[in-house]
Formats: sequence, structure tokens, C-alpha cells
Amino acid sequence: MRHNFGAGPCILPQEVFKQASQAVLDFKDGLSILEISHRTAEFEAVVEETVKLIKELMDVPSGYSVVLLQGGASLQFSMVPMNLLPEGGTAAYLETGVWANKAIKEVKVFGTANVVASSKEANFTYVPKDYVIPEDSAYFHCTSNNTIYGTELFSFPKTNVPVVCDMSSDIMSRVIDVSQFDLIYAGAQKNIGPAGLTIAIVKDEILGKSGRKLPSMLDYKVHIDGGSMYNTPPVFSIYVAMLNLRWLKAKGGVAEIEKENKAKAEALYKEIDRNPLFKGTCAVEDRSRMNICFVMENPELEKPFLKFAEENGVEGIKGHRSVGGFRASIYNALPITSVHALIELMQIFAEKHQ
Ligand SMILES: *Cc1c(COP(=O)(O)O)cnc(C)c1O
Repeated sequence: MRHNFGAGPCILPQEVFKQASQAVLDFKDGLSILEISHRTAEFEAVVEETVKLIKELMDVPSGYSVVLLQGGASLQFSMVPMNLLPEGGTAAYLETGVWANKAIKEVKVFGTANVVASSKEANFTYVPKDYVIPEDSAYFHCTSNNTIYGTELFSFPKTNVPVVCDMSSDIMSRVIDVSQFDLIYAGAQKNIGPAGLTIAIVKDEILGKSGRKLPSMLDYKVHIDGGSMYNTPPVFSIYVAMLNLRWLKAKGGVAEIEKENKAKAEALYKEIDRNPLFKGTCAVEDRSRMNICFVMENPELEKPFLKFAEENGVEGIKGHRSVGGFRASIYNALPITSVHALIELMQIFAEKHQ
């Protein structure tokens, strides 16, 4: 049994893998999901159900559109300013990690990024909380979960400025109030499905105001009007995402998975805090429930622990190179039994190295 703590692409439920592989062989009358036209009624129904499940699971209010895109969250770093930032405009950004930083870099192609706060000086180990968003900002951008550093935003600013959020690594892991946001985007491959699909939830009234001429493929409105089928969508990724969203719904939805995610995170942090060999890397109040970063008191033991973990079925816990140590990603589909398996290995290792 392998326990997959990889940060992304990442674990999906076993039953989703089984159903997906069945559809590769026979989706409809012996035809594979990989060969059918995206214009068939059967596939149009898949897109429709996927969008419906996203709306349902996230309780998306009316006045918002859900669109299925490509290019990853990284293309959203550019699409957001292209669609929302007027010529000569300024947008406010909260710099909480590498992904936020990459988003800031793209804005500079189109206008000015005003970094309202940053935790860069502390290697992004906390989330800045005291900052002011200037009223004349075209929008405010934040990253709800900092995948690399293991911090998460548990509150979002109340402001009259449109709020844009990169939720790639914690979307549908916890209940959020969509009406607090004007644009949410996420690459699917952390919590929703396989790589290749990007989701955007857009408040309709914020579009069409930047005054820029946009290439069709980079215009949210074109994709919304085209029902996420302006061009050939990532058929298989959407299909697998739909299966995963069905799984989430059957489990009781986001509120239920949030309880499990809390329990998983609490159990692992408890062990990190208790075990004399390990320590967490982030401010306790900002600790992510999706990506748990920790190091060892004695860095020389890190390689041996990694090897010990891998030999015992624990995959993907090597920390990102900018943090070092370990990162256990405990996305929705990772069962609590996998967290218990990791905790047990930490305990056994500690006994051997006292
Ligand atoms: C993984 C990740 C990205 C990058 O996503 P791509 O789909 O690879 O472009 C951006 N933001 C966050 C928060 C991420 O975790």
C-alpha cells in the first residue's frame, strides 16, 4: 500500500481511477472517452454536470459564471490583469509565496502591481494581516493556500475593491463564501481532478470594464458565452473531475470533507509538535490544512527519515527546495489512515533515534 502525499498532481480517490479507466475503454457504445467528439450530447452532458456540481458544492450564488479553462493557474496570472486591469491601472497584491510572486510578475506586463504586504522577509512562513487596500485598486489578489510554504488564509479582507483569489490548492477543501470574492480560479490538479483543467468562478458584473482588446482565448466572456466549449476542451480531465466531484458530493460535500481535512491536519500537527525530532515551519495560526511543512531539529536526520518513509510506503513528502525538510500534502482524497501511517513512522523513527 502506497500513501501518496504528493503536492500535485496528486491523489484522487481509487474509485475515480477505476471509473476513469473504464471510460477509457468504453464511454459510450464501445467508444472511448478519448475518442468521442466534445460536441456529442453525451459529452455536453459531462460539461453541464461538472459545472452544476461546482456550483452546488461551492454554493455559487446567482450572478456568477463557472468556466472550464486550460493553461493552468499560471495562465490566470495573466488573464486576470488582461480582463480586469484598465490601461495604466494598478492592482493590489498580497505576496504570500512563490505563486503570489509569479502572479505579481505577470501584472507588470499590463500595468502596475502594488504589493500591499509581503512575508517574503520571513521566507513566507506567515500570512500578513495588517494592510490597506487602496480604494482605487482595479482589484485585490490573494492566494488562499500557499502550497509551497504551508500557510493558509483563514480570513479575507472586506473591501469595496473586487477580490480575486487563487484557490488552486485548497478549493473545495473547506467551506468558503463565494460572495466574498469576485473571481476565484484554480488549477484542477490539486483537489479537483487531473492536470489540464483550470476552473474559474467569475462574477459577471466585473467583466468588460478594462477597455482592453483581448485575444478570444484569453477573454473570460468568450469562454462563458461558449459554455466552456469555445474550443476543444480538455475532455478527459473534465470527465475525471466530474467523477471526483460526484465522489465529493456522495461523501456529503465540502462541509463534510472539511471536517475530515481538519481531523487529518490536527493529527499530523499534533505529532509534529509532540515529537522531539520534528518541528513545524509556519506560524501556528496560519498553518495550512492542505500542505503541512515541517523539518527536523537535526537536519542530518532528514535524509534517513525520507528514506525510511519511502521504504514504508510513504510517497511524496520531500519538501519543496525553497523550504527543505518535508511537506505532507493531505488533499481531499488522502484518507486519514495514510496520515496515521505517516505519524506511526515518525514515532518509530523517533524511538530509534533518541
Ligand atoms: C500549483 C499552483 C499553481 C500553479 O498551477 P498550474 O496549474 O501548474 O499553473 C498556482 N497557484 C497555486 C496556489 C498552486 O498551488
